[in-house]
Amino acid sequence: MTVPAYDWIAHHAGYQPDARAIIDLHSSRRFSYSQMNERVDRCALFLTNECEVGRGDRVAMLAHNSSDHYEVEFACRRIGAIFLPLNWRLAVPELEFIVGDADPRALIVGAEFMDAGQAIARTCSTPHLIGCDDGADSDYEQGLARSNGQCPIADVTHDDTWALVYTSGTTGRPKGARVTHGQAFYNAVNSAMKCELTRHSVNLAFLPIFHIGGLQLFANGIFHIGGANIVMRTFDPLHFLNLLSDPDLAISHGFGVPTNFLFASQLPEFKTADLSRLVTIGVGGAACPRALLETYAERGIMLQNGWGMTETCTLGTLLSKERALDKIGSAGQAAMHTSIRIVGPDGQDVATGDTGELWIKGPTITPGYWNRPDANRDSFTDGWFHTGDAACMDDEGFVSIVDRYKDMFISGGENVYPAEVENVLYQLDGIAETAVIGVPDDRWGEVGRAFVVKKTGSNLTEDAITTHCQDNLARFKVPKSVRFMDELPHNATGKVTKHELPRD
Ligand code: ADP
Repeated sequence: MTVPAYDWIAHHAGYQPDARAIIDLHSSRRFSYSQMNERVDRCALFLTNECEVGRGDRVAMLAHNSSDHYEVEFACRRIGAIFLPLNWRLAVPELEFIVGDADPRALIVGAEFMDAGQAIARTCSTPHLIGCDDGADSDYEQGLARSNGQCPIADVTHDDTWALVYTSGTTGRPKGARVTHGQAFYNAVNSAMKCELTRHSVNLAFLPIFHIGGLQLFANGIFHIGGANIVMRTFDPLHFLNLLSDPDLAISHGFGVPTNFLFASQLPEFKTADLSRLVTIGVGGAACPRALLETYAERGIMLQNGWGMTETCTLGTLLSKERALDKIGSAGQAAMHTSIRIVGPDGQDVATGDTGELWIKGPTITPGYWNRPDANRDSFTDGWFHTGDAACMDDEGFVSIVDRYKDMFISGGENVYPAEVENVLYQLDGIAETAVIGVPDDRWGEVGRAFVVKKTGSNLTEDAITTHCQDNLARFKVPKSVRFMDELPHNATGKVTKHELPRD
């Protein structure tokens, strides 16, 4: 049975026209649902009439976070087109690969990326290049101003693709994960149920919108339920704490990767920030050190650990606030409407507590990658998506993510999962940030190397780090070398990019 997809913004424009829909912090623009709906209409008409965007066509966007992104996303929904947010941290040839693969009819480009946009549109023969500038005079604003009227709402279903989100490409060429209307709907329902979203909720959207987390957590969940989104252009930890403390904004929700919360917790202002209005702060996208969860718990904030990936349209598992402390370190139970298994190399479920690959199935999972029948064949078995993550499950169904299989290394025949070693390193007070990788070794095949950023004023030594690891880890897991760094490399989302750490 095909389920029709609803137009959420059109609904709230009728039901609660004056309710706050979105605040764009960078440009100080504020839109109610009726104002946002009008801009979505104008954008949809502009794309249809002037850029010949039709059902199933792609509309790409290369810009820093802004309210324009969500407007374009919902304009695509209104037309039945496909939204393609692009990662502005990528180099032009990488973007050309993605744009060449997705072949959009229009490319909307922030003023700050216009040179890159022009080069990409030329190489990929993109028919329409549209400049935008956070509400200032631009092709985009002029196009919207010319496009007055109501755009008919296209008849799309839950099976139709709404967005293409490209994976980061750490293991080869990026792949475009299709995000359907059904995936977004079920993720919105899951977010509301598990993270207490209501139409009175106010979400601070600070992950990049080209990442599935920025698009869906909790931004789309908020638009579905009729709450308000506050958009940060880029993440800054001090600004983040100040925003959370602001009584006029009354932020109740937010979702970030561990480094967002790590950097905020290291500021002196963390101790005094007013966090009393927060209802749910979710963390995921990478392993979250236990020490960080404890630091927030001491301030009364139970960071809810959730596991997910681009292909699962975010929430795959989530830990409830009630179990946040007694199951600390776990990524929680399967979200509703999804099923999970922990599978061994033979394709059979492993015994309770044993480590295997996490497989997941359900309506929040991508139906497949764009133009990649080979990857689609390899990634699914009877509808179960192979995540590539090593995980184990306890007898209550709580999942612990051990690490990505591709980050695991083998030392003297034993598997080492860097996330476990990093957890132990984070127990040391002087460590601001750390990452462990495997490097080649003549004797053991591979051995661990810890990269450590020290907190200002810390006099932590390599010996002290090694001794702490020896006291807390099996010998084969203890990093054989430590390299001190001023900072670790991060991607635009804030995750450490381990492939950029030196292996020689
Ligand atoms: P990227 O490859 O760019 O990081 P994703 O955002 O799709 O793209 O990353 C998903 C991966 O992030 C998962 O496969 C998993 O390895 C990791 N991850 C996500 N959430 C968690 C979590 N709560 N704990 C540990 N790892 C996580």
